[in-house]
Amino acid sequence: MKDAKVRLYVEHPLGAGQSVPLERDQAHYLFGVMRLSVGAHILLFNGTDGEWRAEVVQAGKRAGELVCVEQTKPLQMPPDLWLIFAPIKKARTDFIVEKAAEMGAARIMPVQTEFTNSERIRQDRLQAHAVEAAEQCGGTYVPEVTNLQKLDKLLAEWPEERQLMFCDEAEVGSAKRLGAAEGGKWAILIGPEGGFSPAERKRLHAHPQTHVVALGPRILRADTAAVAAMTIWQQSLGDWV
Ligand code: SAH
Repeated sequence: MKDAKVRLYVEHPLGAGQSVPLERDQAHYLFGVMRLSVGAHILLFNGTDGEWRAEVVQAGKRAGELVCVEQTKPLQMPPDLWLIFAPIKKARTDFIVEKAAEMGAARIMPVQTEFTNSERIRQDRLQAHAVEAAEQCGGTYVPEVTNLQKLDKLLAEWPEERQLMFCDEAEVGSAKRLGAAEGGKWAILIGPEGGFSPAERKRLHAHPQTHVVALGPRILRADTAAVAAMTIWQQSLGDWV
């Protein structure tokens, strides 16, 4: 099997002739599940060195080693877009993280808002979902999933040069669009099932970098809204050229 169908994220430098040791679960996946053996080729990326075709030189049950042969893609950074969202039910939160990675978010940031139901997230699990999505979609970059933080705190420390696309369900059906905004550093904000509180809305409206946007004439679920908002942003300001 030389056609390198398997794509794997590794936390190791990649370069011509570089040897890459495998972790136990990776060895299990490649040699146990995918049944690859010495001589097989797979694709590797690490979020910084682009994508490399690599050959299996050692295949064991719990360990293994690959050697990089040639670069197959340069590193392609996504636009500087943060997706900020209030976590909802587990499966839907997983969906948001997976889609954000596929859609080209640079950073995925769960926030706790007044009406957020969940008070905890498993950051490591969500990060693993982002890795899997990057492996699957051909991306060479893995967005960082940050820990849950309070929306108020994030807004209080908001970086001056970053624009905020605030998707506000109170604008449902209105004509509020992204309009003629410029690219650069951006964030998209999606609320929880319960929406934003009046106090949060006031605060967001008062922020000088806020662009209030309506996502059509229907109220979308948060997971749908996240994908819709990223589509609009990528199409008008991002890398969908
Ligand atoms: N329970 C709320 C809806 C929350 S929908 C209500 O009935 O009003 C979850 C999130 O998706 C919202 O906070 C908002 O960020 C986004 N959203 C959903 N539909 C939207 C729309 N038509 N316009 C703008 N944002 C929307």
